[in-house]
Amino acid sequence: DAVIFSMIQPTGVIHLGNFLGAINTWKQINDKKRPDQKIIYGIADLHALTIPKKDYSSQLKTNRMEAIATLLSCGINPQVSTINFQSMVGGYHTELFWYLSCLAPLGYLNRMTQWKDKKSGDQTKERLGLFAYPVLQAADIMIYKGTHVPVGDDQSQHLELTRYLSERFNAMYNVDYFPSAKTLYSKSKKIASLSNPSKKMSKSSEDRLSMIYVTDSPESIREKIKKAKTDSISDTFYFDPVERPGVSNLLEIVSGFQQKTMKEVEKDVSQLHDYRSLKEYVSDVIIESLAPIRSNYTKYTNDKSYLESVIQQGYESSQEIAHKNLTDIKKIIGLSNDF
Ligand code: ATP
Ligand code: MG
Repeated sequence: DAVIFSMIQPTGVIHLGNFLGAINTWKQINDKKRPDQKIIYGIADLHALTIPKKDYSSQLKTNRMEAIATLLSCGINPQVSTINFQSMVGGYHTELFWYLSCLAPLGYLNRMTQWKDKKSGDQTKERLGLFAYPVLQAADIMIYKGTHVPVGDDQSQHLELTRYLSERFNAMYNVDYFPSAKTLYSKSKKIASLSNPSKKMSKSSEDRLSMIYVTDSPESIREKIKKAKTDSISDTFYFDPVERPGVSNLLEIVSGFQQKTMKEVEKDVSQLHDYRSLKEYVSDVIIESLAPIRSNYTKYTNDKSYLESVIQQGYESSQEIAHKNLTDIKKIIGLSNDF
């Protein structure tokens, strides 16, 4: 049977990149769920600790709550998909992490681009958690024997590591236990920062204007799109990510929301002949698409007891799978008392 698994970090309200690159696909999978599929979506609150911040606990608490409310607002239905907090089943995840870390080569982890991007470069300040977190991510997927993982482009390397560790484990213990998890991409797997289109849109960025949150007000969306970096190449708009990364990113966002091909989007914007009209058009599409999410979000954040019930239910159903699988895994490794 298929196990669809993915996670998002509670590092802030989700932005268009998270939505178009991942959460919208999560919703489509949720809406088309077949009886032979199991779907688990997690809030990766253990991963949120990899860049430690002082006096962060109350912020983390808020972020976790907002993350659940956002997923529900985006249309993930907890009756269909399990929604959990990673830390609540954290014992299972971190125990498998240990077994995998005994198989994970340092050289491989050193090549991870997210590590290279996020590390500070000062050995005395470098943390083991940030370095090792791709292995925890592999454990997150493998503890549920995940077969399909819907993520954005920036996660492709971590998914390769996951497949590598599954193979290593199977080969080491001479079993065919872990499946090889497939990466599932959406059509818009990489949304760029609005202010610097050579970088990806990222929650952890300090630049407020670089991203649009799914809960942003119409005014704020118009402001950010208005200030988005474009070019002065031509008053006719077409997709060319190399020469026109800013304009192409805007077209990519429209294509993602409307689920149209780039050809169709180019045709739709062919009657626009100045940057201002293009930006107004893009803002309109975003505002209209996000309106239902925004109103749902207010509803869910005001219903704490419903959020708690979703969490409890998600914990119970994921705990059951994780417990069963970890028992099997320990047996395979030789950590069981059936002498
Ligand atoms: P952080 O900067 O804290 O790492 P993030 O914006 O990268 O935050 P994550 O929680 O790490 O968000 O990622 C959640 C999901 O969103 C992942 O599947 C990731 O691949 C996807 N994603 C993140 N940024 C983008 C983007 N710019 N375009 C497409 N998908 C993205
Ligand atoms: Mg990220």
